[in-house]
Amino acid sequence: MVFYRKYRPQTLEELAGQQAVKQNLTSAITAGKLAHAYLFCGPKGTGKTSTARILAKIINCENPPSPAVPCNKCMHCISITDGSNLDVVEMDAASNRGIEDVRILRENIKLAPTSGRKKVYIIDEVHMLSNDAFNALLKTLEEPPSHVLFVLATTELQKIPQTVLSRVTKLDFKLVSEQDLIEVLRSIAEKEKIKVEDEALLLLAQRSGGGIRDAVKLLDQLSHFGTISRQTVEDNLGVGSMEGMIELLTLISQRKLPEALKQLAKLLESGANPKELNLSLLSLLRQILLMKNGIEESSGLKGLAADFDLEMLLRVMDCFQKSLEQARFVSIPTLPLEMAVAESCVEVQSSEVRVQSKEGEKEDKWDELVSKVREVVEVTGKAKNVDTSGTHHSSLVTHNPDDISKIQERWMYVLETVRQYNYSLEALLRSAKILGCSEGSVIIEVPYSFHQRILEAPKSRDLLQSILSDILGRSIGISTVLGQKPVRAEEVANVEVAADDEILRIASEIFNSEPVN
Ligand SMILES: [Zn+2]
Repeated sequence: MVFYRKYRPQTLEELAGQQAVKQNLTSAITAGKLAHAYLFCGPKGTGKTSTARILAKIINCENPPSPAVPCNKCMHCISITDGSNLDVVEMDAASNRGIEDVRILRENIKLAPTSGRKKVYIIDEVHMLSNDAFNALLKTLEEPPSHVLFVLATTELQKIPQTVLSRVTKLDFKLVSEQDLIEVLRSIAEKEKIKVEDEALLLLAQRSGGGIRDAVKLLDQLSHFGTISRQTVEDNLGVGSMEGMIELLTLISQRKLPEALKQLAKLLESGANPKELNLSLLSLLRQILLMKNGIEESSGLKGLAADFDLEMLLRVMDCFQKSLEQARFVSIPTLPLEMAVAESCVEVQSSEVRVQSKEGEKEDKWDELVSKVREVVEVTGKAKNVDTSGTHHSSLVTHNPDDISKIQERWMYVLETVRQYNYSLEALLRSAKILGCSEGSVIIEVPYSFHQRILEAPKSRDLLQSILSDILGRSIGISTVLGQKPVRAEEVANVEVAADDEILRIASEIFNSEPVN
């Protein structure tokens, strides 16, 4: 049996983290004031379904040792654990989302429980229900029979209609802390007689991003190694070595650009997958952010947390977040990471220069720095055209307002037409700006130099030129300029129609979530 099933928590006590949920349920049960419908919401793999089953057992247990603890030995407890209890109905709204399914459920609800005290309906991924199904469910939630308990679970609270929210008791499941994840992994490893080094546990916990299910699955994947060392994890999960990543971030914090780029190259050469490496670096940076604010503890990162001040940390996170988003636009997979490293060092230095300039010192340091960056980047041979100076060419533009508004009015048409030929070019154009228009060419501003290179490639250039010529009624060329980098994460996210769940999850954890407890 896979670890995740085998070691599902069987009591509230065993549930990792989720103190608020445990307290709420325990006191409600003890006081005999359990609600008739709950909504469990929170990230995937944090224990929502497990808690629903535990609750079903607590309600139906024949021999509870104390009010909120199931015995896990009686007929009811055992049959709920193995999924054969007829009074506990689990439904996955992702595959039973229609009104028919809810109608059947409503018919079924009228019948009394076959053997237990209460029927428990667990509807997972409830946000997937169709509107009609929600309405049908609503009627049941309005007047639920006394022998029924509903537990709805969702990862997407914002998709639950207000009418449903007003009829349920909402409990929030949080990401599980690094320490709690480590405890769970350690106890499973002990029971399975797997030797796991502390550093490997830490790395697994960090890699799972606060979800118990992912953490346990990772341990399961590696369980056939008799002993799991940090090396085992690094070699098998495609992440960069922890030591190597910490070294890289340390060099960035010291603003040592050439050394940082070399360290990055070393990590990539040793077989780290660029996307995994980027995710791991972001997850480390997030950890540092939480540590700096006293939300989480991680012994391995103390040094780094001291090296980064908050402003710098946020800037570096921003660079690595962008590089993750850019990864899908580029043909050189390592380029976004290289740019993120360069940008982290440069931007950090630029603010330092500004401060120094105010004091009237080293005013030309910035130019010096830019040429140094150019040299280093050129040496890597992969990013020769990176324009780190942020030069603006707007002054060269002859504006022709009529033409500009013609193009702007038909911009959607441009995008749709481009999309038919080249999906990523269309996505890229969404973050571009029409800067101006002269007799011979339309000037397009893009935030990144690699966007510029894509636009200037003959194929994209021809395509865009023919569409624009069409709109303006005369033959016209395009020229591109680099703007500042105004693209915010959310704008880029909107572009990503085929968004990768993992990236969005990490992005939302970093940018939107409440602090993790
Ligand atoms: Zn029992």
